[in-house]
Amino acid sequence: MRTAARLDAGVSLPGEPGYEKATRVFNLSAPARPAAAVTATTPEQVQAAVRYARAARLPVRVHTTGHASAAGRPMDGALLVRPRLRGRVRADAGRRIARIPAGTTWGEVVREVARQGLAVAHGSSALVGAVGYLLGGGVSFYGRTAGLASNAVRAVELVTADGEARRVDAASDPELFWAVRGGGGGLGVVTAVEVGLFPASQVVTGAAFWPAAQAGRLLPAWLAWSRHAPEEATTSLRIIDLPPGPDLPSHLRSGPVVCVDGAVLAATPDDVRTARRQAEDLLGPLRAIAVPIVDTWRPAAPAAVLGAHLDAPDPVPFIGDHMLLDGLGGDAADAFLRVAGEGSGSPLVLAGFRHLGGAFDRPDPAGGALTRVRGPYAYMASGAPIGPVTGTALREHCAKIRDALAPWDTGWTVPSLVESAAQPQRHLTEQEVRGVDRVRTRVDPDGLFRGDVAPNATALAADRR
Ligand SMILES: Cc1cc2nc3c(=O)[nH]c(=O)nc-3n(C[C@H](O)[C@H](O)[C@H](O)COP(=O)(O)OP(=O)(O)OC[C@H]3O[C@@H](n4cnc5c(N)ncnc54)[C@H](O)[C@@H]3O)c2cc1C
Repeated sequence: MRTAARLDAGVSLPGEPGYEKATRVFNLSAPARPAAAVTATTPEQVQAAVRYARAARLPVRVHTTGHASAAGRPMDGALLVRPRLRGRVRADAGRRIARIPAGTTWGEVVREVARQGLAVAHGSSALVGAVGYLLGGGVSFYGRTAGLASNAVRAVELVTADGEARRVDAASDPELFWAVRGGGGGLGVVTAVEVGLFPASQVVTGAAFWPAAQAGRLLPAWLAWSRHAPEEATTSLRIIDLPPGPDLPSHLRSGPVVCVDGAVLAATPDDVRTARRQAEDLLGPLRAIAVPIVDTWRPAAPAAVLGAHLDAPDPVPFIGDHMLLDGLGGDAADAFLRVAGEGSGSPLVLAGFRHLGGAFDRPDPAGGALTRVRGPYAYMASGAPIGPVTGTALREHCAKIRDALAPWDTGWTVPSLVESAAQPQRHLTEQEVRGVDRVRTRVDPDGLFRGDVAPNATALAADRR
């Protein structure tokens, strides 16, 4: 590599200052080890990095937080660009749009838009990067009423393979704007997104926990409720079995638990009473089955939704799986609990379902390549290869649950929920895949960003390797 050009572009090699920071990932099971790396804080730095990569003949990869580091292909031989763009989130309450610089995490966005009495279709964790989530679909606890989060993207600022910085929206470049929203990546380095906001007066949110022994009654009850649930409610039910640790809350120390968490949205003050009743319609019958060990469900300001799902506060190693399921009923509940419930020997930390449907299922005519979720439940599982639990044991158990749930597997997945590059995945129809490939061929004819394309999101032979 030409050292002067590399240093001008701020690019570090392994062992040099800057490399470690740029390659840090949230999922410690899948470290990033590119040939070179740069943290870019301005669009001009991103442009310089892309131009340097072209000159040095290095493919370009992108990540921000590395929450999805296991879902990408290995980065060997690539230049990793980690956008951490300077500047704050700016929320325009009149237009109900927020501009989010790449590198910003959801916690910062939610705090800023809440100041304006608005909400955004954010992920469950404050630490997830807004841009990566939005490009991959984005399954929010507002999603049954707000839809897939990527549909809310109004404009994308990105640096394409030619080194040009562009602002792309439905008017300026409809094809690229379509492809970048859920198309599977490989279109450039996004430096900012503009995303639509919606009113949120209050939410009813929290998590209730029961001993896992109650799962045989709670899961069928939750599934039965979900079939007629109001769209304002987006919830999940999981079996959680956290490894022992000093910071673990006492209610999670005594073995596996069933957790029902999520949010019910009251968009306006007039909706607050309805939202409380809707939450009670879910929780009342569950509380009647058994008294929860802990129950934090309560009316709250919208920012409280970020705490409901109990996501890890620090980087951890994890290995997991994801499918979109349909037709879940009593048989599915039994099949699932046999392999994931109490006494199943599951080494997983969590396994369960997120209720989708509602607006998730409705295609948005103004949306991107991925505009709807093709299944009413997302199955998600995850375990930590720590202590006696090995990665092999986790993968084998994920395979066991996958087999047990096979009768309900739709074959579809959501990119933002995919846990590993190796897992089966299908987000787009063949026609949609070909449409995105055409856009990639136009904006990146030499395949500079080829390594960033999600497996199964391209039909081009060279990209499938
Ligand atoms: C604890 C936890 C909670 C989660 N909760 C949810 C949830 O509620 N709903 C949900 O849908 N998903 C959720 N996810 C998944 C999360 O949305 C994805 O992992 C998402 O890809 C994370 O984006 P990131 O930028 O933080 O991750 P990264 O690993 O940094 O990026 C993931 C991919 O996004 C692309 N990308 C990121 N930034 C850019 C950029 N600036 N330009 C171009 N491409 C870019 C790249 O292809 C990159 O490989 C969760 C994940 C974890 C670990």
